[in-house]
Amino acid sequence: MSNKDFSALNLRPELLLSLQNMGYEQQTPIQELSLPALLQNKDVVAQAQTGSGKTAAYGIALLNKLQEKTFTTQALVVCPTRELADQVAEEIRNLAKSIANMRVVVLCGGKSLGPQLASLKRAPHIVVGTPGRLLKHLQKNTLVLSDLQTVVLDEADRMLDMGFEEDVQSILDFTPSRKQVGLFSATYPSEIKTLSSRYQVSPEFIQVAESTTNKEIKQEFFEVELNQRVAVLIKLLDHYQPESTLVFCNTILKCQELADELRHAKIHATALHGELEQFKRDQVLAQFSNKSSSVLVATDVAARGLDIKDLQLVINYEISRDPDTHVHRIGRTGRAGSHGVAVSLYSRGEWPRVEMLGNLTATVVKAADVSSLKHMGGAVLEPTMATVFFGTGRKDKIRAGDILGVLTKQLELPGDSIGKIDVLDKVTYVAIKRELAVSVFSKISDIKIKGRTYRARLLR
Ligand code: AMP
Repeated sequence: MSNKDFSALNLRPELLLSLQNMGYEQQTPIQELSLPALLQNKDVVAQAQTGSGKTAAYGIALLNKLQEKTFTTQALVVCPTRELADQVAEEIRNLAKSIANMRVVVLCGGKSLGPQLASLKRAPHIVVGTPGRLLKHLQKNTLVLSDLQTVVLDEADRMLDMGFEEDVQSILDFTPSRKQVGLFSATYPSEIKTLSSRYQVSPEFIQVAESTTNKEIKQEFFEVELNQRVAVLIKLLDHYQPESTLVFCNTILKCQELADELRHAKIHATALHGELEQFKRDQVLAQFSNKSSSVLVATDVAARGLDIKDLQLVINYEISRDPDTHVHRIGRTGRAGSHGVAVSLYSRGEWPRVEMLGNLTATVVKAADVSSLKHMGGAVLEPTMATVFFGTGRKDKIRAGDILGVLTKQLELPGDSIGKIDVLDKVTYVAIKRELAVSVFSKISDIKIKGRTYRARLLR
């Protein structure tokens, strides 16, 4: 038995069973490093990225000590975004599947209070939520944390970036003084240090530079002046022919400009940044993750927390302002043992910074030559899928199966032409083979599902 086995930890049997059912055979590095301390009820600061398995790390620890027969809220996870909160709740629910009567409730902003109040009538064992809404419930006394055992701040750096510092502090002020505090963050800026010194007691520090130790990422660096970068970016896409590419820019403005320029060059690109409304953000993410958009141009803040797997190519259109961010960016590629390529574009004066990034990521850097890039034909840059939007979702009690039924029976689309179906609260995004989606949905603008007519629209 290696010490990477979960059975090496003293876990309750239901958790071991869940882990087995979830197919988690071995601990990821962050789990191996943080679980011993977490299971001893110690405070922990863990520098870990999305994709490292951090959710299961703190999820296992908080579930292991939870007493499901006591109906009080014993664990709280604070997340920066609704998406992350949903992901976290799902992971915890899966881990808790073998434990009877465990209740996990999600409390996020942008949702009506009614159902949340109903779900809080009986105290849930675990609450996952975003800062503003959690604070609102605490102030109204609809959420009571007097028996809290564990609080986790997930993506703490991002919460601070988003201006939630005061809210997070107010939330912590509602918790009892004796509790375990877990701070999970991709980067470790001074604000996190302050938060830790204020709310944690002798924390253990855990760091996994996952992107550099754990997987194979080939890094390439090209010296390209700003005015040449769009052309070089297109050459890179042509050379590597990736199905999905994540491109990082340092500002919102650049991000939007670049996505527009790529579209102009007939490359299916979308921008993801902090100025998008939630609705648009959901749409962009659906399109990228269901393979109907080939290139996502993002700012660092907006891209944090995305759980997009198997990216073949990450491009730093501008090198990041700080080294931690660079590590975080390139860690997006080559996930789960697959190979990845991270390309960084820099200007002449930036070479010393490039060398520093190379040292940090244990990579020997040498300037690559643009003329080595081959012309492979642009076909892959036309995504295989297209997204169709439906103006209905969970609120109307619509499920993925209902949509699938309508598409295959009513519209007679072959089952294998339909990809990912994302049913959100009020809208649904469905990936359909591009040619079929275009031919069918350029002719219709609404669709009947379970006896009611809803809007249907092909997203370009
Ligand atoms: P996270 O960093 O928490 O967002 O997790 C990234 C992904 O890794 C999630 O899809 C988890 O389901 C998965 N995961 C977490 N722990 C393990 C494990 N020990 N073995 C395999 N997959 C895991």
